[in-house]
Amino acid sequence: MNNILTDRHNRKHTYLRISLTERCNLRCTYCMPEGGVALSPKSHIMSFDEIYTIAKTFADNGVTKIRLTGGEPLIRKDITVLLKKLASLPVELAITTNAVSVDRFIDTFKAYGIQNINVSLDSLDADKFKQITRRNYFDKVYYNILLLVKNGFNVKLNAVLIKGFNDNEIIDFINLTKKLAINIRFIEFMPFDGNKWDMKKMVSYNEIMNVVNTSFSEDKVNRIQDAPNDTSKNYKIEGYRGSFAIISSVTNPFCDSCNRLRLTANGQIKNCLFSAKESDLLTPLREGKAIEPIIQNAIKTKLKIRGGMDTIEKLQKPELHTKNRNMTTIGG
Ligand code: SF4
Repeated sequence: MNNILTDRHNRKHTYLRISLTERCNLRCTYCMPEGGVALSPKSHIMSFDEIYTIAKTFADNGVTKIRLTGGEPLIRKDITVLLKKLASLPVELAITTNAVSVDRFIDTFKAYGIQNINVSLDSLDADKFKQITRRNYFDKVYYNILLLVKNGFNVKLNAVLIKGFNDNEIIDFINLTKKLAINIRFIEFMPFDGNKWDMKKMVSYNEIMNVVNTSFSEDKVNRIQDAPNDTSKNYKIEGYRGSFAIISSVTNPFCDSCNRLRLTANGQIKNCLFSAKESDLLTPLREGKAIEPIIQNAIKTKLKIRGGMDTIEKLQKPELHTKNRNMTTIGG
């Protein structure tokens, strides 16, 4: 591992999340602002060759995992061409999708060794699904999740909990893991530009565990080993096939072991999900210039916690959120 991916806090960045598109076929209220997002001009979006070149630069310097995100990555035209290119790199290739069209990619994923699939699903209720995504695709998404499990993929379901909306489904989600060998991940609602975030709407780690411990006796709730650099704290109900986890970026950040970097669809490197600071890789790449020094500088300047929002007070300053992008163009 070359040193350009190690920051001042001695965190080695081995995991690159690449947003393939700013477009999405859903309109989730906590991600996509009401009026949609101003999309970058097509010429500003990375081509497949540019994505491959940048990804290879990171892999050559020590990145071992690449996750493809969006918007919705599977709506990027001819994505199978890119998957074939990226599958030639010595990295674990993974994808985060809303699963609306995942049934069309089962064989492609198998062909290119994509095993780990994260699916965003915030409700098990079709009406609530429609309310939060502004689209009527619940049955298709649920069917496709079962299809992924049936085909042996490692499926994680990401559910952003919002108070008074889907926090009454925590146990329903956990009970899915009784028969399904999947990992349900409850995500604390986070502040991003345009998502009307309010600390009062967020369901905290402690609140989630209170619901769990009220529904299951203590001896049935097992804390299981987290993976290295894991963003989630993992649990398993005794006798259940699957597991559940909590991603507590707001109340219990996990920045100490952060190994993540993000590349936006328009070729900007973000050293932290919460940081508004970005470094342009695409323009110098197109000018034939080296991008390693830019990558190194982006990582050397990475702040320790949440892009500088290291206290709850700072996290509640809207002026800090609006400087950052909206979630759709970051890719989670
Ligand atoms: S908030 Fe930033 S530093 Fe913390 S874990 Fe997320 S990406 Fe890493």
